[in-house]
Amino acid sequence: MAKSYDVIIVGAGMVGALSAILLAKSSLRIALIDKHSGDYTLSTPPAYDARVSAISSQSKALLESADVWQNIPQGRIASYDNIVVWDGLGSGYIDFNAGSAAMSELGDLVENTVLSQQMMEQIQKNKSIDLYFNNALASYELSETGSKVVLESGDRLESQVLIAADGGGSKLRSENDFATVEWDYGHTAIAATIEIDQSHNNTAWQSFGEEGVLAFLPLPAVGGRHFVSIVWCVPPEEAAILKVLSDDAFCRRVHYAINKRFDVLAITRSRQAIPLRQRHAKEYVKSGIALIGDAAHTIHPLAGQGANLGFSDVKALVDVLSKAHKRGENLGASKVLRRYQRARMLDNIGMAAGMETFKRLFSTQHPLIVELRNTGMKSFDCNASLKKKLIARAAGLASFS
Ligand SMILES: Cc1cc2nc3c(=O)[nH]c(=O)nc-3n(C[C@H](O)[C@H](O)[C@H](O)COP(=O)(O)OP(=O)(O)OC[C@H]3O[C@@H](n4cnc5c(N)ncnc54)[C@H](O)[C@@H]3O)c2cc1C
Repeated sequence: MAKSYDVIIVGAGMVGALSAILLAKSSLRIALIDKHSGDYTLSTPPAYDARVSAISSQSKALLESADVWQNIPQGRIASYDNIVVWDGLGSGYIDFNAGSAAMSELGDLVENTVLSQQMMEQIQKNKSIDLYFNNALASYELSETGSKVVLESGDRLESQVLIAADGGGSKLRSENDFATVEWDYGHTAIAATIEIDQSHNNTAWQSFGEEGVLAFLPLPAVGGRHFVSIVWCVPPEEAAILKVLSDDAFCRRVHYAINKRFDVLAITRSRQAIPLRQRHAKEYVKSGIALIGDAAHTIHPLAGQGANLGFSDVKALVDVLSKAHKRGENLGASKVLRRYQRARMLDNIGMAAGMETFKRLFSTQHPLIVELRNTGMKSFDCNASLKKKLIARAAGLASFS
């Protein structure tokens, strides 16, 4: 006998886990499947997890509605009210300030493990969600009228719709012939937690220079000591070198790459290297299945928007499925799922195009382009209304669609 659900979600990363919580709040019965155990061991500050996410105010509101955000210990969240971006090859400089956009902050930084652990706590309390962890699909059939799944454990499940939240390398996306537009960014991200000599002043610092794109992202201070998470995007061959440099040599390289603004005292967690790939599925839905989060799209992390876009997918899909459920429509029907695709695709494409333009603009060292972009950055910095629009877009308060 197959166990029956309204929705089966494959992938309990940040996006799949949040969709499970919010769909269950809409009175749907959920099966959540992941190949991992779902156990998150939190490090003790200042050994912050190397992977952090900048969370927009729209995502924060969504996480609050899932009872996740308000349960994160305050010592694990760093708010920032300023973003400073500069061109390491010239004099271009832009300063985004929360006050200028009548906002109290521009966003919050939180470790991915902290967010995931808090989501798991909410999931484990919820009787409408059954967990199938350390597990994966052995076989499945999808259709407009319902999906049938057999797990590697031998469990048989059925549901009206299957959500693929299985990340950038989504097996469900490739097995179901979702075409994608994709290419390598020619960048690998080095992520690490470092101690610096002075306060970050609740500011996210980002340098575009010969040394690649380097972000200093604020973390909470501990006992008067100051920490930031760095995401340093460089060509793969450079990343291979940075990964194996001694801690002292690495700290010196970071110090120079950030234009000596901070002395880098130590690394508190080992470095991670993550290859970056732009990918966008040409369709997000087919009969019986919807792609969300990184399974549908991945972008360059330079503006810290990947998870925020995934959370916006969750918001749209939960809205579509809960309304369809109330109307008695079949949740796997293409006409239902296409409403979700219509709600999200243009916005996701707009953000991907913006990141690509930025990445290309700052990849060149041609003197003419450097001169032009510095002039452009200076005039942009003086244009309060344009800056306000960009801040609203990054906060998720305005969209491209
Ligand atoms: C360096 C870096 C910095 C970033 N910074 C930011 C930021 O500041 N802000 C921001 O918004 N975004 C940021 N992002 C993007 C963000 O990390 C991702 O968009 C987000 O984590 C994607 O979440 P997801 O749940 O869609 O996918 P994933 O986190 O990849 O989760 C997929 C889940 O599916 C499971 N799974 C996979 N295959 C299977 C299978 N076959 N069967 C069962 N389970 C399976 C996996 O175990 C995993 O749990 C950054 C990305 C990078 C690389």
